[in-house]
Parts: sequence; C-alpha cells; structure tokens
Amino acid sequence: MNIAVIGGGAAGLTAAGSAKGANVVLFEHTEKIGKKIYITGKGRCNFTNVCDNQTFLQNVVTNAPFLRSALSKFTPYDAMELLNANGCATKTERGRRAFPLSDKASDVTKALRKYAESNGAEIRTDCRIADITKTADGFIIYSLDTSTRTKQTEKFDAVIMCTGGISYSVTGSDGSSYGLIEKLGHAVISGKPSLVELYVKERMSEAEGLTLKNVAVRADGIKPIFGDMMITDNGVSGPIILTLSAYAARRDFPYNISVDFKPAMTAEELDARILRDFGAQLNKQFKNALDLLLPKSIIPYIINRSGISSARQVNSITKSERRRLAELIKNFGLTVVGNAGLERAVVTNGGVDVKQIDPKTMQSRITAGLYFGGEVLDVDALTGGYNFHIALATGYVAGTSAAEQTHD
Ligand SMILES: Cc1cc2nc3c(=O)[nH]c(=O)nc-3n(C[C@H](O)[C@H](O)[C@H](O)COP(=O)(O)OP(=O)(O)OC[C@H]3O[C@@H](n4cnc5c(N)ncnc54)[C@H](O)[C@@H]3O)c2cc1C
Repeated sequence: MNIAVIGGGAAGLTAAGSAKGANVVLFEHTEKIGKKIYITGKGRCNFTNVCDNQTFLQNVVTNAPFLRSALSKFTPYDAMELLNANGCATKTERGRRAFPLSDKASDVTKALRKYAESNGAEIRTDCRIADITKTADGFIIYSLDTSTRTKQTEKFDAVIMCTGGISYSVTGSDGSSYGLIEKLGHAVISGKPSLVELYVKERMSEAEGLTLKNVAVRADGIKPIFGDMMITDNGVSGPIILTLSAYAARRDFPYNISVDFKPAMTAEELDARILRDFGAQLNKQFKNALDLLLPKSIIPYIINRSGISSARQVNSITKSERRRLAELIKNFGLTVVGNAGLERAVVTNGGVDVKQIDPKTMQSRITAGLYFGGEVLDVDALTGGYNFHIALATGYVAGTSAAEQTHD
C-alpha cells in the first residue's frame, strides 16, 4: 500500500495527509516544501474563501463543473478545520477571504506539514523524479537525491501528481513534470499567465501609480467587470484587470478593452453632469474644468482624445462635443499588447486536461492508479482564496481516493 506524492505544495501536502493508512512518500524537487505557499496572499496566505459551493464555482474561470464533486467533499469549512486541527488558527476578512490568524503563510505550511506527517508521510526534499513507468500493478519511480546524488528506484501502488502550474517558477513549479505526465498518456494544455498585469499600447506615464476606484472594464465576449484598477508603467493592473486577464488568458494579442470611468451613470446622465459642472465654471479653460469629475492625472489623456483643445473656454464647447466627451469617459479604449508573463502571474491557465480525469476521485481515466491534485490541473479561478482552496480540495480527494484504492 505505497503511494508516491510528487510535489510539496498545498495540494501535495494535503494529498499526503489525507491518504490515510497508506505508506506515503512525498517527493519535492526543491530544497523545501511550500515555497509558493510563502508568497501566497502577499505572505499572509489567503487559503480559502468562506462561501457556498455555488458562489465558489462562479469564481472558477476554467472547468468549474469539474470541481463540483471535490468542493462538496472538501468545503471552505473543512479547510479551516484542517488548519485549526493542525495548530493554525484562522480568521475571515472582507470578501469572505480566510487567512491564518497570525497573518503568516508559514503557519499554513507548518499545519499542512503536520497533517501530512501525522499520517506518517515521509517528506523528501531535494529529490528529482527522473522517470515514472507504469507496470501491471503499479508504478516504478526513478528518483535522484540532488544533494547526495543518490539514485533510487522504488515501486508504488499509486502516484499522485501535485506538481503545480508554471507561474513563479522560482517556487519550483516549473513544468518539469509535464513530460512525465504526457508519457503516462495525458494531454497537457499549454500554460498561459492568468491573474496578471496587462500591458497596453497607449502610454499613460503621467498617471502611473493612479488607482481608479469604482470603474468598469469591458472586452468583447466578457461580462463588464466592476471595481478598482491601477495604471502601471507598462499598462494596467489591479483587481478588475486581474479578473479580466483570467477570462482573456487564452486570447491572442492585440485585443481591445475599454474603461468606463463612470459606470454608475448612463452616457445621458454623465452628459447632464458635465453640463452642470461646465455651467458652474463657464469661464474656465477646458483643461481645468474636469477636476470635479476625474482624477487629475488621467485628465490630460481624456482631453487629448476628446478632440477639444485644452485651452478652449468651457462656454464655447458645443453640445455634440460634450456628448462625445461623455461617450469617451464611458468608453476609453485601450489596446492590450501583452502581459507581465508567467513569472508574475498568480496562477496558470492550462495544465492537465480534465476530460481525462474522473472528477469524483481525481484518478486518471487513462492510467489506473495515477491521480492529480492542484494547479497542475487545467483549472483556475479568480483571486480571493479560490485557487489555494482548489489545491487543498483536489489534493484531499486525490489522497483519500488513492488510499481507498490501495486498500482494495
Ligand atoms: C504571488 C502569488 C500569490 C498568490 N496568492 C494567492 C491567494 O492569495 N489566494 C489563492 O487562493 N491563491 C493564491 N495564489 C495561487 C496559489 O498559491 C496556488 O494556486 C497554489 O498554491 C497551488 O498549489 P499546488 O500545490 O497545486 O502547487 P505548488 O504550490 O506550485 O506546488 C507544486 C510543488 O511541486 C513541486 N514540483 C514541481 N515539479 C516537480 C517535479 N518534477 N518533481 C518534484 N517536485 C516537483 C514544486 O517545487 C512545488 O513545491 C498565489 C500565487 C502566487 C504566485
């Protein structure tokens, strides 16, 4: 009854802990476990979102139905209970985001390590998997201890792949397992950055660092996204842009987006508001007449595109010019020409094709005894604790299912 877990992140540690009664060896190729956990949630580890399953699934961007069963088996409450039971007290903040009470991601890693070790799991760091071969009744794993250069060949009844995606590869999730997975018969969908800053063609350097509150961003085929965004040196970022980047992860560049600086008003309402503002400052120059409406540093970019000279007196601006200005403020187009890339993406869009995996057990439909958990799968979600929870839940299901299988 031997199970190999490959990968010492949230999914792998949870799989190792939940494979009750099995002899578990967890192989991690970097020098320590949980390197991505340390940077999750800016070092505070937003580990789940305390919501019902329907709300959770609405926040999953790719392959939400695949996760339905795993979420019913391992809920956000189960995540909190698991951490609490292993010495990590938790708290819930704004937006139902759950964190360790200490605000230290390392406490989550400690708790997950304790969970794995309390099930007797042996954790081997600095251990590279050179090959995995399927036999009639299990798997042979060829590994190399990179600190001692010792090679080992071991037999396991089941293998659980929890090797993560390919973002922030310094944490160890570097795609090195994809070849092994493909060799075992699985299709891997190429990884794209998701939850990532977008680069735009239009430079807005004067406004760099500006946070635009309560705006909306639109792109063809994507529902408008409301909230805050930031102007960066290369483009745009912040919550609504990260969300947009997730839904547009597989789009080719360039593509168009538009910012609505006043989503709470219709174009007509905005026109009436501008008319009122202009009426109160009739003798001002246009460039000084938008201060009540928009953040100062963005105004030059609006003026530039409005076709109205910045030096014009407000009282000379015509009705149609004003209407066009209102349209522009509600529909400020930008051209997305790239993004900050996988090294700065919070999560990977892509991974092991879920059509080849049984969602109830996380077992391969192709290679019996092979299981998957976490970001290695082609699933990804929005910010808010959903991605980490997916790693915990799918790791949990893979671990429990593999242990049940090996007890047959
Ligand atoms: C900056 C940042 C902030 C984030 N913030 C949040 C957040 O606030 N909330 C949230 O829900 N999610 C967040 N995430 C996403 C979340 O951290 C991940 O989705 C989750 O940790 C994935 O866990 P995992 O176990 O599947 O993969 P990983 O944590 O990547 O673990 C995979 C492990 O497998 C090891 N490995 C890989 N290949 C091999 C191999 N061939 N042999 C042996 N070992 C191997 C790796 O070294 C690694 O330790 C964030 C991610 C980043 C990068």
